[in-house]
Amino acid sequence: MAVGKEELSEIVKPRTDKREYKRIVLGNALEVLLISDPDTDKCAASMNVHVGSFSDPPGLEGLAHFLEHMLFYASEKYPLEDSYSKYITEHGGGTNAFTASEHTNFYFDVNSDAFEEALDRFAQFFIKPLLSPDATMREIKAVDSEHQKNLLSDAWRMGQLQRHLSSSRHPYSNFSTGNWETLEVCPKAKGLDTREELIKFYQGNYSANLMHLVVYTKESLDNIQRLVECKFQDIPNSDLNPLCFPGQPCMAEHLEILVKAVPIKQGHKLMIAWPITPGIRYYQEGPCRYLGHLIGHEGEGSLFYVLKTLGWATSLMAAEMDWTTEFSFFKVIIDLTDLGHEHMQDVVGLLFKYIHLLQQSGVCEWIFNELAAICETMFHYQDKIRPIDFVVNVALNMQLYPPKDWLVGSSLPSKFNPSSIQMILDDLTQNNVRIFWESKDFEGHTDLVEPWYRTPYSIEKISGSVIQWMHAAPNEHLHLPAANVFIPTDLSIRELKEKVISPIMLRKSSYSRLWYKADTIFSIPKAYVKIDFNCPCTSYSPESEVLTEIFTRLLTDYLNEYAYYAQVAGLNYAITSTDSGFEVTVFGYNHKMMILLETVVDKIAKFTVKPDRFQVIKEMVIKDYENYKFQQPYQQAMYYCSLILQDNSRPWMEQAEVLPHLEAGHLAEFIPMLLSRAFLECYIAGNIEANEAKSMIEQVEDVLFKGSHPICKPVFPSQHTTNRVVKLEKGKSYCYFANGLNPNDENSALVHYIQVHQDNFLRNVKLELLALVAKHRAFHQLRSVEQLGYITVLLKRNYFGIHGLQFIIQSTVKGPGKIDQRVEAFLDMFKSELHEMTGDEFKRNVDALIQVKLEKFKNLSEESKFYWQEIVNGTFKFDRRESEIAALRQLTLEELRDFFGEYIKVGARQRKNLSVRVYGAVHSSEYEADKSSVDQIRCIKVDDILSFRRSQPLYGSFKGGLGQMKL
Ligand SMILES: [Zn+2]
Repeated sequence: MAVGKEELSEIVKPRTDKREYKRIVLGNALEVLLISDPDTDKCAASMNVHVGSFSDPPGLEGLAHFLEHMLFYASEKYPLEDSYSKYITEHGGGTNAFTASEHTNFYFDVNSDAFEEALDRFAQFFIKPLLSPDATMREIKAVDSEHQKNLLSDAWRMGQLQRHLSSSRHPYSNFSTGNWETLEVCPKAKGLDTREELIKFYQGNYSANLMHLVVYTKESLDNIQRLVECKFQDIPNSDLNPLCFPGQPCMAEHLEILVKAVPIKQGHKLMIAWPITPGIRYYQEGPCRYLGHLIGHEGEGSLFYVLKTLGWATSLMAAEMDWTTEFSFFKVIIDLTDLGHEHMQDVVGLLFKYIHLLQQSGVCEWIFNELAAICETMFHYQDKIRPIDFVVNVALNMQLYPPKDWLVGSSLPSKFNPSSIQMILDDLTQNNVRIFWESKDFEGHTDLVEPWYRTPYSIEKISGSVIQWMHAAPNEHLHLPAANVFIPTDLSIRELKEKVISPIMLRKSSYSRLWYKADTIFSIPKAYVKIDFNCPCTSYSPESEVLTEIFTRLLTDYLNEYAYYAQVAGLNYAITSTDSGFEVTVFGYNHKMMILLETVVDKIAKFTVKPDRFQVIKEMVIKDYENYKFQQPYQQAMYYCSLILQDNSRPWMEQAEVLPHLEAGHLAEFIPMLLSRAFLECYIAGNIEANEAKSMIEQVEDVLFKGSHPICKPVFPSQHTTNRVVKLEKGKSYCYFANGLNPNDENSALVHYIQVHQDNFLRNVKLELLALVAKHRAFHQLRSVEQLGYITVLLKRNYFGIHGLQFIIQSTVKGPGKIDQRVEAFLDMFKSELHEMTGDEFKRNVDALIQVKLEKFKNLSEESKFYWQEIVNGTFKFDRRESEIAALRQLTLEELRDFFGEYIKVGARQRKNLSVRVYGAVHSSEYEADKSSVDQIRCIKVDDILSFRRSQPLYGSFKGGLGQMKL
């Protein structure tokens, strides 16, 4: 930690930032950053503790992570289990924590009127946590369930494999999250009591002088200071030194290696890593950012451009990762095509050629200056983000940077120092390299197994090989990027004439409709553009859907080397397929936005199929479909639920089946048909004038719909697309049974869905209020008490304007049939809780929900997404929040109980429930038994999803129909 003079200098903040900041140090040495933001609706806090999984005692892997779980439970002052998270949830907030190698971070946000008590409860984690024996036993299961979920994640598996192949004397090699073995079985066998170890760990590592706190509120700095001093001064200070882990995790035997590993999912991936000097030591000089910018560049002449042109790679990223202040890695991660997989040595060879080019060209000052200018604009015109995200970032920075850079961190490279860049560049050599190569092709050809995740792998030394690969690699023209023309120079804020509070329809023609919302709130030189191409041909068949998908990916592929410059400069775009066509989004600095949009539309208009690129994209899409079966069971259950309910949705298996037979010629024939009829729903918002917005869309229309041979024609009235949802029958239960798609996955999952009503403000708020009250109770009962599984969620669900409740639970402990019974038992219990609810409690919950709805948009993209949702769904209720607040103000407790009794309660007259059960490997024996024992009178078994759907009545569609209906 930096000390001395620097602490006195002022905290650097963005030019556009009106918040006030103050650093204080309490009597117990706790260092605090106070943030006062009179405009905020949510308050937040984050505590960063300078201890993490590197400090786990040997043989108790995961103890730091487990302690993080346990601190949430209860404290001496608030002994009621889970009452902290209950308080937070019921006051419109959220809370979470994570454990990294050298720190553990705890954070929450909450409605501002509940902040003081929330902060008091939060402070007690660090003053006197309870760590009760009973909860300790139960929560080990939650940690184990978290591990069961990670077991099938390639990110976790490959991360651990890299750690495994490092010095066992360095804590980098440890297993960090823990499971039943490490936290229960092994300690027990050694006569250790996990709870005692937990307490020992807490006492030995948690000390006020090792903590950094950020508090974000509406209050003045003086008021927060008083509050913080009073709440946090009792955290004991044992004046501990932070544990230090000097030394390098990789020894000579861990370098110059090629590791072949078998992933869960399809796809070939190459990760090239070098241990480097930690970039944080030179954070104002940004050496890793400079190198990451160049090696990861995607413009013409870049490494990625060349790999892409050869048909070898589909993505590439390069950056410093996996670092502490003592050691660090620079990594290049490349997704390979099948062909690229065969040319692995050439791919690595080309990477080294590019590094060689960087060595030859020397460090370029103009590139550094360009990058510094981009970073400077990004820092000073950054969007406001949620306070909860903001405090976490800053709390992490506090452990690492001197106070003046707590907000900046490493984001503002400003000192050009060629020697620090050169020093890192000199680390990127063949003697220093570690290559991790993942592919299913290695299945059966490996001889080793990583112990924690059981990942099969093999390892070989590659001394001297890389230099040969480099010489043998093809001679492609690699060169440095050109100057970036997309860097905005006009950052002025327009004086916008239309002071509208919600979007207005600015323009309508037979080709398009334009919604417009001038920025009157954020005063940032950015704009947001959405164009939804409604093309009736898209949804015609599985083939047409897949071809639309390939079309959008090819467009992105063609645009990439040009538009990458725009992205680097903070102007982003996306082209994605939708159920009814495709969607173009452009978001970022408004100065050069029109240039980018014109290019995108031009590419659409002049689209031609390049057969070589078609093959590459087709291969990617095929792998994506193949990987659907490795989705987590709860995701599979959610998918079945949507498929049963959404009239236009198609099983992905149909697309997967037609895909291999589609060729470039099919796409070439299809695209003119796809574009032949289109209606453009458009939204433009931000620092853009009305006539500018109008002319943007006029230009788009000119390109697509005008001229002697127009590409598009308007759609016929009969062709407008709809979104319709199955209307389940009142008083009926439905069940769908499926085996998990991955036989190696032990997890089962249940989605218990209760369909309630079509968009209606009063009913919406009743349902939302019930979800708010029940959410935490469900979590406490089903996860903390019954320990069904790490993923246990209750949420309000909206399918195209049809509202309902959804329980989502993933478990290895109980099969889906039994979990379903637990959900119903919970609802019975909740019924009595609702009956015991006092008037005061009801009012508190109503107020909390009103607070949530009163929350202002924090940035342009949040605002735009809200309004865009109303537009694409066809509901157009731009005043939704105000109307729902009015409805909430009228609501009585009696009405809420009646609503529960009528629609949600088990056995309710109007209850409509669909239970989707996915059986994992551990419960596969229950599948047949459950299925045949279903009570046919109580429950309708859905055997064939599509014939079931066709036999059911549907709700009316908002889109293309009921749009202007009064709610
Ligand atoms: Zn966890």
